[in-house]
Amino acid sequence: MERIAWLNGIFLPLADAKVSAQDRGFLFADGIYEFTAVLDGKLVDSEAHLARFARSAAGLDLPLPISIEEIETIQRELIARNALDQGGIYFQLTGGPAERDFLAPSTAPTLLLFTQASEVIERPSAKTGIAVMTIVDPRWARRDIKSIMLLGQVLAKREAAAAGAQEAWLVEDGFITEGASSSALIVTQDGTLVTRPNSQAILPGCTRKAVLAIAERDGVKVEERLFTVEEALAAREAILTSASNFVIPVVTIDGQPIGDGTPGPITRRLRDLYIEAARAG
Ligand code: PLP
Repeated sequence: MERIAWLNGIFLPLADAKVSAQDRGFLFADGIYEFTAVLDGKLVDSEAHLARFARSAAGLDLPLPISIEEIETIQRELIARNALDQGGIYFQLTGGPAERDFLAPSTAPTLLLFTQASEVIERPSAKTGIAVMTIVDPRWARRDIKSIMLLGQVLAKREAAAAGAQEAWLVEDGFITEGASSSALIVTQDGTLVTRPNSQAILPGCTRKAVLAIAERDGVKVEERLFTVEEALAAREAILTSASNFVIPVVTIDGQPIGDGTPGPITRRLRDLYIEAARAG
């Protein structure tokens, strides 16, 4: 089946979605993006992702060409047209085409949306857990903006993959910031769920936010504070959250097992509860 995308007001085959070689996204990485998960053909945490999209756009002075409500309507239409059951919607806004000039204003922004199908529930990593590798955080200082300038993440993920790990956990001044494309959490030996507080140093994860609320409702003690690589290595459980993965157990860090080296009970419960909440809408 041909995948249908939406580009600047038009539904069209993804293969035919073309943008200018002078697009500021292409020339300057002057753009932002989002990924909202789709489960059972429904958007997951959509309000949070749309709010972050608007916030990221404002951070780069990019005007939204249509309203957030209209974007959500297009997303639902894309789900229907692509018969999407599980996966997600990628959407991106850039400064659009302009003469190559650092200060050119965004007069005709480019807005693109397309679907990606993937198995979210029965993914093997949810059962086996994944390996992560720590890498010095190579990114710019405004990580709270979901910028398309992802080279730091690409290089970190490549390095991790070459070492046999499925994600990079980025480290600044000895403290873990977050995953290259996920939030990082640990469960300490006394059962406290710990994750770095939101700031310009990390992306405020939508899944992270939902999972922290679920954990608190479930009676898990939550602490938002910085944690070191050593603390993560000594943790009972380690966890990754993101819209594309939901909640995934981290079973080794830099080759060292976390806890007994298998997915822990708090991680598995949080994953189940998150999926339950997503399904309930
Ligand atoms: N941190 C970074 C750097 C990310 O790229 C992502 C997702 O892509 C996340 C955290 C997780 O955010 P969310 O749960 O909103 O997908």
